[in-house]
Amino acid sequence: MPSIRILPETVANKIAAGEVVERPASVVKELVENSLDAGATQVSVEVESGGKRLLRVADDGSGMSHDDALLAFERHSTSKLRTAEDLVSIATLGFRGEALPSVAAVSRIVLETRSQEEEAGTRIEIAGGKLMSVRAAGLPPGTCVTVRDLFYNVPARRKFLKSETTELGHIASLVTHYSLAHPEKSFVLKTPTQEIMNVGPVASYQDRIFQLFGKQALDELLELKETKVAAPPASWETGSAAAAGEPGDTEREPAEMVIRGFVSKPEVQRPNRNAIYVFVNRRLVRDRLILHAIHEAYRNILPSDAFPTVLLFLELPFAEVDVNVHPSKVEVRFRHSAWVHDSAREAIRAALTALKPIASFPSVGRPAQRAAGVAAAGTGPSLQQAIPTDVPMSDGAGFELEPYQPAPEPQRFSFETGEAIPLTLSDESRQGVTGTFANAAGQPASTAPTTTEAEIANLKPLGQVSNSFIVAVNASGLWIVDQHVAHERVLFERQLRERQAGQVTGQRLLMPMIVQLSPRQQATFDQIAAELRSSGFDVEPFGQRTVAIQSAPTGISTSDLDKLLVELLDGVEKDAQTTNVETLRRKIAASVSCHAAIKINMPLDQRKMEWLLGELAKTDCPMSCPHGRPIVLRYSLREIEKAFKRV
Ligand code: ADP
Ligand code: MG
Repeated sequence: MPSIRILPETVANKIAAGEVVERPASVVKELVENSLDAGATQVSVEVESGGKRLLRVADDGSGMSHDDALLAFERHSTSKLRTAEDLVSIATLGFRGEALPSVAAVSRIVLETRSQEEEAGTRIEIAGGKLMSVRAAGLPPGTCVTVRDLFYNVPARRKFLKSETTELGHIASLVTHYSLAHPEKSFVLKTPTQEIMNVGPVASYQDRIFQLFGKQALDELLELKETKVAAPPASWETGSAAAAGEPGDTEREPAEMVIRGFVSKPEVQRPNRNAIYVFVNRRLVRDRLILHAIHEAYRNILPSDAFPTVLLFLELPFAEVDVNVHPSKVEVRFRHSAWVHDSAREAIRAALTALKPIASFPSVGRPAQRAAGVAAAGTGPSLQQAIPTDVPMSDGAGFELEPYQPAPEPQRFSFETGEAIPLTLSDESRQGVTGTFANAAGQPASTAPTTTEAEIANLKPLGQVSNSFIVAVNASGLWIVDQHVAHERVLFERQLRERQAGQVTGQRLLMPMIVQLSPRQQATFDQIAAELRSSGFDVEPFGQRTVAIQSAPTGISTSDLDKLLVELLDGVEKDAQTTNVETLRRKIAASVSCHAAIKINMPLDQRKMEWLLGELAKTDCPMSCPHGRPIVLRYSLREIEKAFKRV
């Protein structure tokens, strides 16, 4: 075996580059992070040939002195970290001191920089890790890094780069993320032929979303109430984070978390997670914990195979987050993970339940398609188009960030024919997409089908369609209510309320019902028996893998009982996450209410319909059933008048 030796610096840098620099977008990421860390207020990115030929990031930040500029290319040289203790609370985007030497190892790089204090700037040229020239130059304060011919000396890597369009797509997504996280700064992204993005400073995330995606995207979103969450009690210590138990522990700053963000209204359904963006201290992260919190917030609102659009901005004390987990810093660990998880879930849930939104007729029938249609054909780009996916975008796929071009009209459901007809945008909603924000004063009027408690009140039933759907009217329009899911929602909320208040007492069966379980069902049963009992099921073990149901929640017919129990056991088994008590409770309540609710194809007399509509109006979430299906459709007075050409 050859003897061990320490690798030359240039080789080490090339190896590090393998980790940090995967594609042009990763270079842009490192350079933009450096600009932001340097306090820049303007960041401009220029790209040629998808960044393969040229990438340039210029900023008006602090700049570097002549000496620092040279040092910056040394491995592990950073101004952001001094001691190992600093690692416990990192306030900057970068800290590893690896980016510049890594990029310099695999490209031809030119750094032009001038600090405010120095008269002249410095220009450094490096190719393949070798210093080619250093000289003084007349430069404006700030830094400009130009990277040419990425991977020119690593042919294997170069081969793996995708088409120019794809690489540009990744870059566009990346700049989009940073511009979302920093609305108070300017970002420009351009190619020799196109200005892809040009956003000036704005006062709020909302304004930035409008700049980037236009009014339609905003209309789909609900803003979370800004929430400040106090530190968790000491007993919450979880400590998967490496930070836990470190020296700073006893005297750490008071932990307060600020939650801001936007989540899509319940009628928006996306086929995957690609429109979920979570920023932790202004860093875009991938985090399963928070994804789970989002999923939980939408449980019983969205079907389990549909996903919302979410832009979540969490600000935590730096010591609460460990960012030193992943070379490109896209994963983080929270010191108090349950605290973060539950707070995020509650903030989102609060916004969703405050809304009480109602589907209107246009969304009839094909929610999945509608959601896809909005994403693909909405005016201006949707979040989904603009922001990337884990899967690289296919060539030519639109990431068009120019929000201001009319696209094919969204489809709308026709009440008369039951077919989709083109929806003509009103002048009002067109205004939003011209790019002038002044008229909307930051609050573009929502045309989305959202309704308030008052609007669904006082429904007067007229009759049933097919003994299944109640037709009703009130001042706000004509309504059709699915009687089964409406009753399900009423029972679901009642069951949850009673459970929250304490034990639910079930109804005793005349004869215990014996149910045979599979080994897996038996295992699940043992796991959830206590919660089942508290939810009104008295179920006793009865010999090997057999249980006897003694009592059950009110309203469930005996013939349905074994099915319900088995459904519950199988449901929990499938979704391992439901070991969480809160989730389990909701799951049980959803199943119970589904089985206890009146069915379709059941005639209802006037009194029953009135009772049901009255109870529905009182629920927290009268628009969708606990499994996420719509409960009511509304044809608003305005839509009716429009259809008859009276307005
Ligand atoms: P890190 O960001 O992890 O510190 P980098 O290799 O990205 O490591 O950068 C090394 C150092 O160079 C930084 O710590 C910073 O001091 C300096 N630097 C890099 N880019 C800029 C910039 N755009 N403006 C000012 N200083 C910069
Ligand atoms: Mg850096």
